Amino acid sequence: MKRQLKYVCILCYFIFFTKPTVAQSIEKNEITFIKTGKLFDSENGKILTNYVIKIENNKITEVGKNSSIPENVKVIDLTEYTVLPGLIDGHTHLMSLDDFKDKHPMAEKVLFEGDALRVLRGANRAKTWLEAGFTTVRDLGDSGPFLDVALKKAINEGTTIGPRMFVSGPIIISEGGQVPGLLKSQRHVIEDEYTIVKNVDDAINAVRIHVNYGADIIKICANNSPNNTSLTMDEMKAIVKMAHRYNKKVTAHATTDLAVWEAVTAGVDGIEHGYQISDTTLTLMAKKGVALVPTDLTKPLLKKVLDIMDYKEDTDIATKGYKDRYQDRLQRAIKAGVTILTGSDNYIDLKMPQGEAAKNVLIAYEEEGMQPLDILRSSTYLSAKFMGKEDELGSIKEGAFADIIAVKGDIVYDFSSTMFNVVFVMKNGEIYIEKE
Ligand SMILES: [Zn+2]
Repeated sequence: MKRQLKYVCILCYFIFFTKPTVAQSIEKNEITFIKTGKLFDSENGKILTNYVIKIENNKITEVGKNSSIPENVKVIDLTEYTVLPGLIDGHTHLMSLDDFKDKHPMAEKVLFEGDALRVLRGANRAKTWLEAGFTTVRDLGDSGPFLDVALKKAINEGTTIGPRMFVSGPIIISEGGQVPGLLKSQRHVIEDEYTIVKNVDDAINAVRIHVNYGADIIKICANNSPNNTSLTMDEMKAIVKMAHRYNKKVTAHATTDLAVWEAVTAGVDGIEHGYQISDTTLTLMAKKGVALVPTDLTKPLLKKVLDIMDYKEDTDIATKGYKDRYQDRLQRAIKAGVTILTGSDNYIDLKMPQGEAAKNVLIAYEEEGMQPLDILRSSTYLSAKFMGKEDELGSIKEGAFADIIAVKGDIVYDFSSTMFNVVFVMKNGEIYIEKE
């Protein structure tokens, strides 16, 4: 016993008092300069001209207007393009891809896909997000038993390619999860997929479990749509209190106005979807500084989803109905002063690279009347700030990670086609895309 204790104490010494060896591997001191024509100032939502970015290894060390560049250093000329911080998708499910024709997608994933194949497929999808210009994602569940933590580790150590991941682990939820029609005898299907809580003590322990197994953020379901059950206010309050104690943000899937109001009152930091949110609840969100992640689809993608579902009525009328409701909700949220973050929630097989499909969320906000530079500010600086990472991510400034992209076209007047014309992607100082 004494021996074991001694071992633990020695381990503690190494964890707390020694420098990580990983630092030694990036002491190669590579210096790169990027010349920009237009540069997006994400903090202020403005376009700057003729700035030069200095990168040392994986960090930005200088940003200056018309700065001189020394000889014999690597120079990347992006003066023909608009240079931006890498985009942030605040709501992904990299380990899920549902065919909307499939009646039992959860059973397909848990019973027939299995963890190994699921992570391999997730890794493949992760790459498409990076290629689309998303250098960071917040992955919010539907990822099996902490498979998102595994993929994050694989990306961070360079085993596979993908964006930076901030992960929630399984969604913390009340009985039944979000799987409708499941027989009680088959309940085990959802137990690896979700962390199910039965009472306040369970809720507290769920947060401890998530912190121990590597979650960066806590995701809860304030209502379990499509199931008609929900966490209690006391359970949500306990989760928020515990998560904040460990410095973790809490974001809640909440679709009805009541679910949003309860989650916000319980103290969550973010609301996902919020489809039926009222002005009163939006006012409360603005007052408490709670962010909204509207996971909206563009008109063409909505029509595509309806087609996949073999929708029998007029798809134009249905699409207009959805878009009118999305637009009304987004505009009321902006008017109320609620912080808007970008999140695609893209887990539907739209027969195109998933990262490309995810980027449509930016275009959806534009369709709903949000201005391009405001959308980009939401997808960079504001998303990083929500995670408490605004000094490292979402901005091109001294001290930030070198997560930089460039797009070809006019970002203000031709937002959609420009955002799909990504010519350069750098993450952590490494170049993944460099087109002529
Ligand atoms: Zn989602």
